[in-house]
Amino acid sequence: MTDTATHDLVVRAARALTPDGERAVEVGVTAGRIETVVPLGTGLAGSEVLELAEDEVLLPGLVDSHVHVNEPGRTEWEGFATATRAAAAGGVTTIVDMPLNSLPPTTSVANLAVKKQRAVDQAFVDVGFWGGAVPGNTADLRPLHDAGVFGFKCFLADSGVPEFGHLEDAELRTDLAELTSFGAMMIVHAEDPGTLEDAPQEPGPTYKHFLASRPAKAESTAIAGLIDAARVTGARAHVLHLSDADSLPMIAAARAEGVRLTVETCPHYLSLDADHVPDGATAYKCCPPIREQDNQDRLWQGLRDGLIDVVVTDHSPATAALKEPASGDFAEAWGGVASLQLGLAVVWTEARRRGVPLADVVRWMSAGPAALVGLERKGGIAVGKDADLAVFAPEATFVVDPTRLHHKNPVTPYSGRDLTGVVRRTLLRGRPVGDEPAGTLLRRGES
Ligand SMILES: [Zn+2]
Repeated sequence: MTDTATHDLVVRAARALTPDGERAVEVGVTAGRIETVVPLGTGLAGSEVLELAEDEVLLPGLVDSHVHVNEPGRTEWEGFATATRAAAAGGVTTIVDMPLNSLPPTTSVANLAVKKQRAVDQAFVDVGFWGGAVPGNTADLRPLHDAGVFGFKCFLADSGVPEFGHLEDAELRTDLAELTSFGAMMIVHAEDPGTLEDAPQEPGPTYKHFLASRPAKAESTAIAGLIDAARVTGARAHVLHLSDADSLPMIAAARAEGVRLTVETCPHYLSLDADHVPDGATAYKCCPPIREQDNQDRLWQGLRDGLIDVVVTDHSPATAALKEPASGDFAEAWGGVASLQLGLAVVWTEARRRGVPLADVVRWMSAGPAALVGLERKGGIAVGKDADLAVFAPEATFVVDPTRLHHKNPVTPYSGRDLTGVVRRTLLRGRPVGDEPAGTLLRRGES
């Protein structure tokens, strides 16, 4: 790098979160990549220059590895255009799409091709895909891996949609062994069907009844089984959307003995609690459920202790009607919280209250998920990475107004909430995310 080079873009920031900590930097971007990161004041030349305001921090674009887009097939729930616009508005520059709730589900190479064909012209941010492991598709896993999916999702209990069956223990072990033979990861919705079956099932609008129907023990039982299966097969496993903090000691012990296990949790488990879910407020319904305040406190401790690796949204929308707003019946309502646009502000608002630094939040939501899925070019303000950037005002505040959400069905438990932290601008490979979809489809291992 010579100081006479002119970059396509130079970003000047008195505060930037780099892998080496917070720095005052100039970032030189050429052809969509970060070509240089130098101290502020160096005076890099750029065809365009973006100078951050005093109250702004430059962040690496967030990577959300848990998003349900649902297109095609249930596009009225969510589509690629709306989901990726919501992502960009929330500072998210890469999403990895879950294999279910679209029709077809991403359980074969042919089905993956259908999803890609729908995504390719509509993506405002970069999009990758998970494959699905369902009963009977073991032979499809290797071809899907070769086609570039980032790993495979399975359920251990009913998924909620008939076309995406759950794996029994023997099938889980067969598929884990298969994935291990080519180095792929299994990501797991861990709730135990037997425990759920034995739990009291009382429908209606009372949140406590819904919570009792999805007890913490369902998670801990399923996670114990997963740990055992991962230990026996040597597989690489990832626990999706951990809600139950009681499972953390068991996770710690498994990791200590060398089981290859990572864990995620979600903004709603870190910011909402069961005592404050109004009766009939089905926007709060998700599985596993939002639990008590004490559990939330212990999830934060799990993050601090490094036992939970990443925070991703599990953006899982449905139509407003499927949330059963008239009856408020938690048993009937579709489960899922859609928060792609709000995830950073929700987590940062709570982190700030708890004295957790912004750098930790950004690591859990950017570098962490990028590393989880092996996207070496994402998740950092560093030379050689894609210039995926977010301009964030960490002390600015806003009130959540559902009419300003970009996702297709703006049902949200955060409606009316005061949040701290505003995403002012998002850049994808050095270009502001604008009116034209400029996202690309990502493949595993591509760099
Ligand atoms: Zn999910």
